[in-house]
Amino acid sequence: MVTAQAGALARLNADDLRRLPDPADSPSDCTCRHLQCAGWESVTAPLAEPLLQPLGTLRDATRDDEPTLEEFHPGGTRYGSETAPVAPAYFPYNRCTVWACAGCGRGFLQYTEFGGYYVDHRLRELDPALVSG
Ligand SMILES: [Zn+2]
Repeated sequence: MVTAQAGALARLNADDLRRLPDPADSPSDCTCRHLQCAGWESVTAPLAEPLLQPLGTLRDATRDDEPTLEEFHPGGTRYGSETAPVAPAYFPYNRCTVWACAGCGRGFLQYTEFGGYYVDHRLRELDPALVSG
């Protein structure tokens, strides 16, 4: 089980993501079940404890430059596709924090889009079968 360090979030990689539970195995009465986000969904505010617990980050904190905006869609998926690969080296996964449901342990990814006049918080359920890289 991956746990967050005090202070800085632990850097996670694709193998860490693959170890998280299959969302299909999560109990139907778990509080996370109301989160319908197989693809990226906007949420009004980032979700945090007590619903979700932080596991770590996919961002490379040793780099000063912004992570690439390039996306990874070898199968013809799009940004919002429910089957889009979860590729930690590519946008938007390269800036995501990784969370786990406090009840069942299934994983979620979150990041914040900063536009010219808005911030938009995004949430996606983590399906380990879609992890790439
Ligand atoms: Zn849950």
